[in-house]
Amino acid sequence: MSELIPVRQMDPSHPSDKIYVRDTEGLYQRIRAFSLWALMGLYFGAVWINVNGQQIVHFDLPARQFHLFGATFWPQDFFLLSLMLLICAFGLCFITSLVGRVWCGYTCPQTAWTFVFMWLEEKVEGSRNQRIKLDRRGPTLNRLRKKSLKHGLWLLVALGTGVTFIGYFYPIRELVPDLATFSMSNGWAGFFIGFFTLATYLNAGWMREKVCLHMCPYARFQSAMFDEDTFTVCYDGPRGEPRGPRKKNSDQRTQGLGDCVDCGICVQVCPTGIDIRQGLQYECINCGLCVDACNQVMDRMDYPRGLIRYTSANALNGLASGWLRPRVLIYGASLILMATLVVVLASTRPALYLEVMRDRGGLYQTGPGELIENTYNLKLTNRSPQRETFDLRVAGPEGTRLLQSLQVTLDSGQNRTVPAVVQIPASKISASRSDLTFTASSQDNPALGISTDSTFFGPAPRPGSPSRNAP
Ligand code: SF4
Ligand code: SF4
Repeated sequence: MSELIPVRQMDPSHPSDKIYVRDTEGLYQRIRAFSLWALMGLYFGAVWINVNGQQIVHFDLPARQFHLFGATFWPQDFFLLSLMLLICAFGLCFITSLVGRVWCGYTCPQTAWTFVFMWLEEKVEGSRNQRIKLDRRGPTLNRLRKKSLKHGLWLLVALGTGVTFIGYFYPIRELVPDLATFSMSNGWAGFFIGFFTLATYLNAGWMREKVCLHMCPYARFQSAMFDEDTFTVCYDGPRGEPRGPRKKNSDQRTQGLGDCVDCGICVQVCPTGIDIRQGLQYECINCGLCVDACNQVMDRMDYPRGLIRYTSANALNGLASGWLRPRVLIYGASLILMATLVVVLASTRPALYLEVMRDRGGLYQTGPGELIENTYNLKLTNRSPQRETFDLRVAGPEGTRLLQSLQVTLDSGQNRTVPAVVQIPASKISASRSDLTFTASSQDNPALGISTDSTFFGPAPRPGSPSRNAP
């Protein structure tokens, strides 16, 4: 595979570092627009969808619960969440090994927001040529008006992005009225809205492709997932070279020219400002815009389409090319394995959690009637779909009992911590540590119960003395 070479072709018509992206039309632009608008719609819309009174995506940090499309995850599910993130990472590797950086070109949030910001820029300031002229013209009233409108719109989108993002943590139906009435009790929410607004405005409005080129680590290690069969945007050099301008319908073969008319449009439409004719480069986000642009040129020249196209290095060189390769199979098998594990773990998650925490105040107390006491905090989480009342019990050495009987009623998804004092007669304690088992069981649903082991501390028997509970 040709190595990913860092070549950045500046637009010769505007030698500053700014890239003026030219709008184009075509199949890949349509797919891209559909994908990016749909993702934006999902981002701004999902936060407003409630099912059974619960926001479908809500990271409820104070309650330590993550609600994701009807499923609720607690801190105990950390392993499951980590596995899901791992699946996403392997999914990215799998897709990249097959079709290169299509994630970057069609779904990455940086691409999506940049796309919307560029769309607004074009609506306000006009086409690429009009934007270049506007910037060259120097300060005028018209320029000031257009720039103010553009930046105002960018800030509005950025603010909407910031509010929506925080709405995934702080219920959006409370957040928006609180913001509108300046009655927000949580100052951190205000701080993070400001932070994400600024970050969006700078990333999508000002930095754009620089984020992909200099800040995104994925651009740097993507080559490790590429091979000669990876499907990516390529320029057909043997067909296109030697490049050169010519009139339509002239016979380029007699002029010794290839199919590339050297119009430079593929460079002008590129969001990262590179020239794909110089080979595969790490800046290329595989968006296919140069394919669309070049196909239009080919149509105008009555040449076959596909001078720039999605293909693999092997296919371009006339070699056999296939989808099933060792790395694809390894990524795919790992994905299937992890997805199966997630399904099994998720479907066998207990509907009840009982966490037992010993009181740190002391090892034990001696109560009335030679009773040794240990204090615990029992945290019970009801993950069943309905409200339940649970009896809490304890089992251990003979005579083990709770100081008070404990009953806890919990709504679905609710958790509560209750203190519990366990008593054991001193005469029944044979070691400084005894095993205990706490049990929680539903009063109405016999199948719903859970046990958790813990330790009871008592006075150590004196060396050589007979066991306290010996007959
Ligand atoms: S758009 Fe096509 S014809 Fe024009 S310069 Fe690029 S590769 Fe050549
Ligand atoms: S070279 Fe083509 S595919 Fe790559 S980023 Fe530029 S326009 Fe997109």
